[in-house]
Amino acid sequence: MQMKLLQDRIRKDGKVEKGNILKVDSFLNHQIDAELLDEIGKEFHRQFADRGVSKILTIEASGIAIAIAAARYFRCPVVFAKKTKTLNIAGDVYTSKVDSFTHKTTNDIIVSKRFLNAGDRVLILDDFLANGKAIFGLSDLIRQAGAELVGAGVVIEKGFQEGGKKIREMGVDLRSLAIVDSMDPETGVVFRDEE
Ligand code: 5GP
Repeated sequence: MQMKLLQDRIRKDGKVEKGNILKVDSFLNHQIDAELLDEIGKEFHRQFADRGVSKILTIEASGIAIAIAAARYFRCPVVFAKKTKTLNIAGDVYTSKVDSFTHKTTNDIIVSKRFLNAGDRVLILDDFLANGKAIFGLSDLIRQAGAELVGAGVVIEKGFQEGGKKIREMGVDLRSLAIVDSMDPETGVVFRDEE
């Protein structure tokens, strides 16, 4: 279910940039509105409260604040995957590859084996969903750990890119707090009509 408070804030303060980028850095991922983040965390908890979440997994940097806001409600730890260009640590980490949508680079992402375990019930959270690479990489780490992926939540899904369809086709219960179906630097954003 989408979140009206968030949609209103995106309409007011979001900036549509070239290259299908929506900038929300005045409230979500550079300057951060802590009260809005608290509401976002509460909403993710409302939507996934019955899943027995034991851990929230996200990716640095922008996912961390969101994951923490939610974890306060789930009362579980946050683990964030680290991005690295050189894989010099072997053995004690799970690794996957993620193409960055915003930076046009490929990162290895790593999580220490100490922090993801078989038996964990993991919720993935992130700020944006575009082509689905970040969520796919995180779900790969969960698979390697033998843990269970119980759902994925993103603050903003760009519904005109392929990620949402791909992740849902994998059978993941994906929830988005705002789904942008089109956006234009002149006319702004159009949200999906609620299902
Ligand atoms: P994906 O992996 O789904 O292709 O892209 C998601 C990742 O790229 C997110 O972690 C987010 O950091 C970044 N991203 C994708 N699209 C946007 C966007 O429109 N604006 C911002 N600020 N970040 C984005």
